[in-house]
Amino acid sequence: MHDPEYQLREAVIALKSLPHTQLIAQSTWIWSKPVGDVIQADFLNGVVAIQTSLQPLELLDALQAIEHQQGRVRTVHWGPRTLDLDLLLYGQESINNSRLIVPHPHIKDRLFVLEPLAEIDPDLCLADQKTISQLIEKLKQDLK
Ligand code: ADP
Ligand code: MG
Repeated sequence: MHDPEYQLREAVIALKSLPHTQLIAQSTWIWSKPVGDVIQADFLNGVVAIQTSLQPLELLDALQAIEHQQGRVRTVHWGPRTLDLDLLLYGQESINNSRLIVPHPHIKDRLFVLEPLAEIDPDLCLADQKTISQLIEKLKQDLK
């Protein structure tokens, strides 16, 4: 079933239902063109903020369980998928192990991540001290 709005709605319901977890903020959803050479439909993207006492790897397990519940089957890299839940930031923490890199390494390269992130946290400052609006400006320049 190809229904991105439905998938995101269900994903937010599932996130809200995680143990010891509350939804704090939710961006609007924005459409983006797929990255890479695979011919596929546009993606719908958004960012949510949650408060949770789940540890980072527990949260990653939960995100992957939600992806699987919603019918994600891993096929080609950057290819079509029903749902992709990435952990962008975990407070101020830096994490780098075989399963999890936080901050997510592609935040700064993707307007469809930066723009919804700015909506829910306009004062956010990422690790290299750049504000989110500076990162958006830089990426827009680079993409010209
Ligand atoms: P992508 O999100 O890059 O399109 P996948 O969703 O297939 O690719 O994720 C591939 C792997 O990335 C996962 O198995 C997971 O262990 C790893 N990963 C590393 N850091 C993160 C993160 N911050 N959020 C989500 N997955 C991550
Ligand atoms: Mg992912």
